[in-house]
Amino acid sequence: MTDHDAIVIGAGFAGLYQLHRLRRAGFDVRGVEAGGDVGGTWYWNRYPGARCDIESIEYSYSFDPELEQQWDWTEIYAAQPEILAYAQHVADRHDLRGDIAFNTRVEALDWDDEANRWTVTTDDGTTSTARFVIAATGCLSVPSKPEFPGREDFRGEQYWTSSWPHEGADLSGKRVAVIGTGSSGLQTITAIAPVVASLVVFQRTPSYAIPAHNGPARERLREVREHYPEFRELSRLAKTGRQCGDEEAGWYVETDPETAEREFERRWLEGGLCYTQTFQDLLRDAEANEAASEYVRARIRAKVDDPVTAAKLSPTTYPVGTKRMCVDTGYFETFNRDTVSLVDINEEPIRRITERGIVAGDTEHEVDVIVFATGFDAMTGALNAIDIRSGGTTLREKWAAGPRTYLGLMSAGFPNLFTITGPQSPSVLSNMMTSIEYHVDWITDALQHLREHGLERMEPDQAAEDNWVTTTNDVADLTLMPRAASWYMGANIPGKKRIFMPFAGGVGTYKQYCDGIAISHYHGFELT
Ligand code: FAD
Repeated sequence: MTDHDAIVIGAGFAGLYQLHRLRRAGFDVRGVEAGGDVGGTWYWNRYPGARCDIESIEYSYSFDPELEQQWDWTEIYAAQPEILAYAQHVADRHDLRGDIAFNTRVEALDWDDEANRWTVTTDDGTTSTARFVIAATGCLSVPSKPEFPGREDFRGEQYWTSSWPHEGADLSGKRVAVIGTGSSGLQTITAIAPVVASLVVFQRTPSYAIPAHNGPARERLREVREHYPEFRELSRLAKTGRQCGDEEAGWYVETDPETAEREFERRWLEGGLCYTQTFQDLLRDAEANEAASEYVRARIRAKVDDPVTAAKLSPTTYPVGTKRMCVDTGYFETFNRDTVSLVDINEEPIRRITERGIVAGDTEHEVDVIVFATGFDAMTGALNAIDIRSGGTTLREKWAAGPRTYLGLMSAGFPNLFTITGPQSPSVLSNMMTSIEYHVDWITDALQHLREHGLERMEPDQAAEDNWVTTTNDVADLTLMPRAASWYMGANIPGKKRIFMPFAGGVGTYKQYCDGIAISHYHGFELT
């Protein structure tokens, strides 16, 4: 049995940076990763068309200024192979792989209240102990795999976007079905439509998608590289951890309809996820949101030739921005191809999978390949998959009615266990790179503080946690976010408690608050 100062679970962008920072600070630290290499999301999600939806200039590490100057992103929104290569390059550059056990899954964490140590059990049967455990397990790392009756009867190929084969899958000339029209589904559909013989898309909920206007990154990189530190600092203070020109946004309610239309168009032409920041009240005021939603629906109608298909592709059951928005490159136009068809499973539910294909309503759709783009058990899935025990209870039991954390960083009763981009932090509502780096820095500073003061243990006060949970819920209730049956709410997982999980108050506000907590000697935490 080995003993360490800290064990970091996960070797995605969060785990890699956490390992690096703790090692540099002189801690004895080990990483454990279920996958065969580094990269996390970008290691697993290798489906055709996979790419980031936040510009790579921002969706990248800021901790290594030389790397910022050296790494040439080829596209504004890099594709998965390039992002994975970047993660691998960082691992090589900082010599991180040697301290990570790959192909190893953490199954259990057991807190020893007398020794102030976690016992970490992995699926190869080994146990280690560590004073601190940092869960860098990812918010979107546990796929949701709904049961489809008859799936095992299907004679063709089946793939999940979230665990696409490393050797790739040749879909050219085949009859393909894609189930799911969230971000992964949209990207897959757009990428494969030109090469497959036919494509049938099964949609439960249509997505709002904003054009990417992707292209070469060279010019933008040159511009930003001249002032990267200031650029990053602005991102850290911005609402979503990236720059959308927030300060320019006015209020929809104070804007006349013609000006509002021009503003929506300006954002639409800029492209990307900043669309929801066209107006400050867009995610708070139903009327403002409906105007923004209708603008997108009008664009969809303009792109899709068949009005019936256009109507099916137009989201009407939830406000724009309250489910994860998508960034697209010709998704809607895909449905103008003769070879592509759309099945709305609200009208024609999927009844079963047969050896030949998928039966929806009264129709059997015969296909050679089924692609499942059915999403993730978001935010709590990876943590709840580990048997985390402390003081006679498990984290899973504590979180049965929804996650409870202080600042999304720790949970009362589970000392010395930190979560990176945990529930009740801005996390998935932000540029994750900004949020990851902030949490890693905060946690590392806290561990250094404990060491410098000869302390061994850190844990949130129950009252501080209760207040934070209430604050998170209250902030969410000020917005339209809880109105959608989204994965932010846990609504995609049967039986999961519906509660808005991320902190919706903005990255900059959150940072200022957490900075203040650290400066005030970790107010709300008990340090012993
Ligand atoms: P992950 O990358 O998910 O890594 C977590 C790692 O932990 C995984 O490798 C997993 O195998 C490992 N792990 C989990 N549990 C265990 C265990 N028990 N034992 C051992 N190992 C374990 N975010 C953005 O901000 N912008 C984007 O453009 C963007 N695009 C995305 C596209 C896709 C297809 C997906 C799925 C997500 C995207 N995200 C995006 C979110 C993305 O998850 C984060 O940006 C980021 O990659 C998360 O890094 P991470 O290290 O926190 O988690």
